Amino acid sequence: MATQPKDGVTDLLPSTETPSVIPRPEHIISRANISEHALKVLYRLKNAGYQAHLVGGGVRDLLLGREPKDFDVATDASPEQVKQVFRNCRLIGRRFRLAHVHFGRDIIEVATFRAKSDDQAGAGERSADNGMLLRDNVYGSIEEDAFRRDFTINALYYNIEDFSVTDYTGGIEDLAQGQLRLIGDPEERYREDPVRMLRAVRFAAKLGFNIAPECEQPLTRLGPLLQGVPAARLFEEVLKLFMAGSAVQTFEKLRHYNLFEHLFPATEEALAHEDHAFPITFVLRALENTDRRVQADKPVTPAFLYAAVLWEPVRLRQLELLDAGVPETPAMDQAATSVLTRQVQHVAIPKRFTLPMREIWGLQHRFAQRGGQRAFRLLTHPRFRAAYDFLLLRAESGEEELELAEWWTRFQEVKPEERAEMVQGFGGAGRRRRRSRRRNTGPE
Ligand code: ATP
Ligand code: MG
Repeated sequence: MATQPKDGVTDLLPSTETPSVIPRPEHIISRANISEHALKVLYRLKNAGYQAHLVGGGVRDLLLGREPKDFDVATDASPEQVKQVFRNCRLIGRRFRLAHVHFGRDIIEVATFRAKSDDQAGAGERSADNGMLLRDNVYGSIEEDAFRRDFTINALYYNIEDFSVTDYTGGIEDLAQGQLRLIGDPEERYREDPVRMLRAVRFAAKLGFNIAPECEQPLTRLGPLLQGVPAARLFEEVLKLFMAGSAVQTFEKLRHYNLFEHLFPATEEALAHEDHAFPITFVLRALENTDRRVQADKPVTPAFLYAAVLWEPVRLRQLELLDAGVPETPAMDQAATSVLTRQVQHVAIPKRFTLPMREIWGLQHRFAQRGGQRAFRLLTHPRFRAAYDFLLLRAESGEEELELAEWWTRFQEVKPEERAEMVQGFGGAGRRRRRSRRRNTGPE
């Protein structure tokens, strides 16, 4: 059966050096900082006679003195064996099976040690022409498991047997040096899975680490490989890129390494050809806002973020349509459709997000129409709050009149009687709007 680690695998490994083992007194990982549920899983596996280690981001973050986002467990037990140990366990994943151990809403992911399928697959069937891994991994030894991981700092194992940390790839030294280094040949590893380029940028931004020169150098060249990654997977990765609390840094690095253009081509084109500062200011402010909310543990909605990142191409497209004589509302609709249609070929965006995005965009021109009952109606729109936050960002970045945003701020704050007074004098809606919209649209 392929579920048990095989013997005699060491000759297949990229390195034959013995791993370094850091005993408990020589590292800072304390059980007090490991979640109760993760500890339960580790001990239960150990007591059932299996190896059990924490691995990945959890170990990395603990060694850095940071609070881990989650804890992943690696074991020599097969998924079926894991399931026998835990009643509260579900096996997930069709291609590669993982065990999810449930504790209420908390889930501890337990993965069986696995090796790169390259080691087993016959030549020719291993990968596509561009080097991307097509076959899924197969079970292997802990060493093989270490070497198939992405960065050295993500391949450290905390062993529940004796609380030591095992380092097969030099991760401890890279952690100390603040360095991200891919395990193995960088270009080959990026080609196998181009998402690793995004992960490099994400970890560099989040941890404030440098990308090792030999891993940094291919980045600017290999961006086009992202086109071969399924758009749905990129959606998940982009969320991680922008929702991890360092979105501004991540965005700047993605642009620096020519990766952003493969995720959001229309945005990159709009930003690159812009004669004004406000479009980039707008995106940066939206990302700053997101970072502030994440750091304060407040919820952030992907729809708002995506709406902000794609706003400039949508706005420019709408202007073209307006100039061609299309009325405001259909112009916005068509602009949104054309930008989204192109976008989802690169990074998918599920309908549950594109619908609110369209609403946020679609409400923007209605802020200028304050006469009669219009302002009152807008105020009760279910998407008013998000659209108003969006308007504030536009005004702060200089794309829209500050006066308009301030008016809406006041309109929400004042007593209902005063609102009636505020809307007086806005009988003919829309005229002022046209002027302001054109304000920043081209070289003046
Ligand atoms: P985070 O703090 O964002 O969760 P993480 O390093 O734990 O960071 P995960 O996506 O949770 O990231 O992945 C867990 C581990 O699985 C990683 O630390 C790494 O060892 C391995 N891994 C994840 N993605 C890849 C990949 N694309 N290629 C190789 N190994 C990967
Ligand atoms: Mg993780």
